[in-house]
Parts: sequence; structure tokens; C-alpha cells
Amino acid sequence: MEEVKKEVTGGKSWNLLPSCGKEAGNLDIIFACDGAASVGQVGNQVARDLTNRGIGARMCCTTAVGAGSEPHVNLGKNAKRVIVINGCANKCASKIMEQRGVKVDYEYTISEMEVKKVPTLDFDEEDVKRIAEKIAEETGLNLNKKSVS
Ligand code: SF4
Repeated sequence: MEEVKKEVTGGKSWNLLPSCGKEAGNLDIIFACDGAASVGQVGNQVARDLTNRGIGARMCCTTAVGAGSEPHVNLGKNAKRVIVINGCANKCASKIMEQRGVKVDYEYTISEMEVKKVPTLDFDEEDVKRIAEKIAEETGLNLNKKSVS
């Protein structure tokens, strides 16, 4: 089981993620749209869950890629594999990757996975669990890491 590094900040013990800039070549990088609707929030939570439990995977900053931040574009280009999670049929995260020349290995769209797009930030944890496990199975991502959520 992968060890989770910790840092004590303000008296709290925080779990550290691997550096996406330095370690992208060894990581499955997840870019979620984090849209302000049910489906965007499910996608973001799925990305968090895969980051917390998946071995060798972590989410990175989709907005920074969209803004053209060179380090973030490059970590996408250098990633072992890129997994994109869109909220709805607009597929904003996928479009960002295409515009910045980042190759997408796996693309998911939450609204096509039995989740309705509703103008709310609320979501069903069961949807998150179901979709995270489906993505892990299809990509071969191992979810054995101790949860850090
Ligand atoms: S893909 Fe849909 S949910 Fe995600 S940011 Fe775009 S419009 Fe919003």
C-alpha cells in the first residue's frame, strides 16, 4: 500500500499529494471541470476520490491548463496517462486539453453516466462511489491506497 506523506500545518495533520510538476511522468493525472452544477460537482468529487484512494493518480488544476500556465500544460503533456472528467455535454475540460495540445487517454462525462444536470451544488455520494469505481475499473487504476479523505 502506498504511503501517504503528511505535513503538520497549524496543528493539523494534512495529507500531501505527490508533486504533479515533478512526478507527472509516473502519475495518472485527472482533470475535472468542477462545473457549478450537480454533474460538475460529482465529477470533482470523483476526481478527489480517485486522488485520495488511487495509487499513482492525482487530480491537477484544469483551470490553470485553460489559462495557458506553461508548467500545468507541460505536466498534462508529460503525464503517464490523462483522465478527463467533464460534467456535461459541453465537455469543457476536454476542450481545454484539446486547445492546449494535451492528449487525453480516458474521457468521462458525468451527465452520460446516469446523473442529471441540475443547478445545485448538492450531489449523491452513491453516484460518486459508483462512478469512481467504474473509472478505476476501466482505467486499471488501483484503489488500494488508504483513504486520505
Ligand atoms: S462541462 Fe458542463 S458542468 Fe463542466 S464546466 Fe462545462 S458547462 Fe459546466
